[in-house]
Amino acid sequence: MGLDGLGSWRRTHYSSEIGPELDGKEVIVLGWIRDIRDLGGIRFLILQDKEGTVQVTVPKDEVNSQVLSKVDLLQRQCCVGVRGLVRRMDKAPGGAEIIPEEIRILGVAKHPLPLDITGKTPAEIDVRLDARVLDLRRTENQAVFRIRHAVLEATRRFLVDRGFIEVHTPKIIASATEGGAALFPIAYFEKEAFLAQSPQLYKEQLVIDFEKVFEIGPVFRAEKSHTRRHVTEFISIDVEEAFVTAEDVMKLAEDLVQYVCKYVKEKCRWELNVLRRDVEVPKVPFKRLTYDEILEDLSDEGMRIPWGEDIPTPAYRLLGRLHPYFYFIVDWPTSLKPFYIKPKDEDERVSEGFDLMWRWIEIASGGTRINDKELLIRRLKEQGLQPESFKYHLKVFDYGMPPHAGWAIGLERLVMMLTGKENIREVILFPRDRFRLTP
Ligand code: ATP
Repeated sequence: MGLDGLGSWRRTHYSSEIGPELDGKEVIVLGWIRDIRDLGGIRFLILQDKEGTVQVTVPKDEVNSQVLSKVDLLQRQCCVGVRGLVRRMDKAPGGAEIIPEEIRILGVAKHPLPLDITGKTPAEIDVRLDARVLDLRRTENQAVFRIRHAVLEATRRFLVDRGFIEVHTPKIIASATEGGAALFPIAYFEKEAFLAQSPQLYKEQLVIDFEKVFEIGPVFRAEKSHTRRHVTEFISIDVEEAFVTAEDVMKLAEDLVQYVCKYVKEKCRWELNVLRRDVEVPKVPFKRLTYDEILEDLSDEGMRIPWGEDIPTPAYRLLGRLHPYFYFIVDWPTSLKPFYIKPKDEDERVSEGFDLMWRWIEIASGGTRINDKELLIRRLKEQGLQPESFKYHLKVFDYGMPPHAGWAIGLERLVMMLTGKENIREVILFPRDRFRLTP
């Protein structure tokens, strides 16, 4: 099928702007054919654009032959332009329809399509992810990704209002940022380099220059575990601030979560309606539970975890049932936290690190950082890391490193919470995990 050109056509209205008040007016709408209903003498084309849908009605005996011949070629998901007259029509969605005078086919859609985007025939997630661009046209996905956008918008507003500056740190790095988590090695000319697992060390260094920094960017983890809340590439919202402690940045984190929930609740009514969800604006402060209290809670439920051990997933699930809301876990054993988290002055075995939880899912983790170089070197060694590998980072501690604290929130975990999606892949455009590298 030959394609028509766009020519001088430009959109005069979005679908959502077509209403009875335009009765008799000529308009140009541009979009995709979502559905075609053929009643013999009359055909209904549902045209979708980024704002919604509008009905294009084609009564055989009222339209010209150009329109009739084009309509015969149309298939679902064809990209089209329609020039026509608006007609008031109470039965049509939006109270109006368009009677076409000319149709241009701007992009073809090959049938059969791998997915039915109207949702009449639901498909498994892997089928949908394989045809992701088509899948993203589903109304539900439009809602999910607009909410994701609103979360980012709200986060930036909130942090900028509080005097933070947005930064971007390198994603190609020479050595392991934190140790621990597995990194992806990459070939970097004659050398080996890695994809950054976190902006941690750079954002800490930057508090010397800017005091309050944030970064919203991709991070990479060679996660072998294949779960519904882990992927190998995700967006981390990172914050670091000078002259504060864990408690100050916990307050910042809970205020941000509250602000984001409020923002989404107010700005995303259509989206929440599509997802049949309500967002509860959480009250602050969130509960602060110590690691010891968590162990007691678990022990009361018959799950004993020795002090100093990490909390396994089944225990988190149980905690989620006991605390079905937001809460912080504080006073973690120092040995369970990364080397840069500050041990408490009064008891070195306990740290100033925290996690922010939503039910059983970790949303963020953070803490007061070490700003004393000697202590940092000792902690590196205690964790089996080589101070030599961190020489550029350690050097910065000779330039007047202030006391500082910060956290990282996983954007997708926040979006899962707001949209009610249980698989993180649902809230990522093109998710990456151990088994998925395409599309
Ligand atoms: P988890 O215990 O859930 O594996 P983590 O302790 O490895 O998380 P951090 O390294 O502290 O997480 O990362 C900060 C935040 O980034 C987490 O609180 C979470 O919201 C998010 N996050 C961590 N790993 C992943 C992942 N693989 N996929 C998606 N988000 C992640």
